[in-house]
Amino acid sequence: MKAATKYIHAGSHPDPSTGAIMTPIYQTSTFVQEAPGKNKGFEYARSQNPTRFALEEALAIIENGKFGLAFSSGVAATDAVIKLLSPGDEVIASNDLYGGSYRLFTKVFEKFGIKFHYVDMTHVENINKFVSAKTKLIWVETPTNPLMNITDIAAVATIAKSNNALLCVDNTFASPFLQNPLDFGADLVMHSSTKYLGGHSDVIQGALVMKDEKLREQLYFLQKSCGAVPGPMDCFLVLRGIKTLGVRMKQHCENGKRIAEFLSNHSKVKKVYWPGFSDHPNYTIARKQMRDFGGMISFELKVEDIAETKKLLSSTKLFSLAESLGGVESLINHPATMTHASIPREERIKNGLRDSLIRLSVGIEDPDDLIEDLSNALGK
Ligand SMILES: *Cc1c(COP(=O)(O)O)cnc(C)c1O
Repeated sequence: MKAATKYIHAGSHPDPSTGAIMTPIYQTSTFVQEAPGKNKGFEYARSQNPTRFALEEALAIIENGKFGLAFSSGVAATDAVIKLLSPGDEVIASNDLYGGSYRLFTKVFEKFGIKFHYVDMTHVENINKFVSAKTKLIWVETPTNPLMNITDIAAVATIAKSNNALLCVDNTFASPFLQNPLDFGADLVMHSSTKYLGGHSDVIQGALVMKDEKLREQLYFLQKSCGAVPGPMDCFLVLRGIKTLGVRMKQHCENGKRIAEFLSNHSKVKKVYWPGFSDHPNYTIARKQMRDFGGMISFELKVEDIAETKKLLSSTKLFSLAESLGGVESLINHPATMTHASIPREERIKNGLRDSLIRLSVGIEDPDDLIEDLSNALGK
């Protein structure tokens, strides 16, 4: 079955009691039992909820996995993966991780005795320098935020397998429409469903997808034991978001391409970061593992001036100045003062995040209007 069809039908079954075509929102904490120990498979909603189960079935299908688990946020999903480990275990992670993942690893889990190594995964050989018998998990994010670096998932999966480590890929930026990490040998896929899966900037949620039943057992145990489950209304919203993932992503990709090209030809723009350009350093890998290149774009201005950059950021009318990404509406973000402000300036610039770097989450408005908006703002 083709992806767009799967997105609409995954996890959807007419409601057995009424035939309702849409999955009902089972807004309940508990389920009445017929007799002690006799029930319909539902006892208490932290462990089982029919709306959540429908979403989890859909998550498994859209990522070509066998099992899906939904969490109350993307970081809660990440938290569950790290809790598979024990003190003394080591993790190798991408060096330009989502800030919230980096904070969770360094500020929460290091003090429980888990060690994290951060490496430049655009060259997968770098991973080998840190692999040992203690390595239990490799954590990859591709494309990365905001510089759009790409990591070869299949190559990392080979390293993970030969060292008995799990490979988890944060697939938030790509979405299942552009890339399915399990197909390249990853053991786990993580999503911030807040972004492209929900798609409408109206919910915070996370997801894990896997093929292995034992891994599913362990993660389901953590989901119910630690309790970071999403509510049924939020599960309904993500289930509904997934139905239009195909059409939305097509438009994100088309708009992204138009805007990346517009920016790269603009006299005030120095550099555009977008994996669809043939001169992107990881273009070959992007072509190999991604079906298209999406609507996440970063660019630098020629003037390296924070005041000039801020002027542009407050001049757009359709692009709203905000964090987050993946919604139908276009957003503009300034990593230096917003998403990456907690990184000291020197270190930030060393990592390529200059003061004039701007990140766009290109929405699905008409691309002519978006280009006009950027053109007006750049002209000012
Ligand atoms: C937003 C995001 C997360 C965290 O997800 P939340 O839903 O905000 O908890 C993790 N990884 C990436 C790449 C993200 O963009």
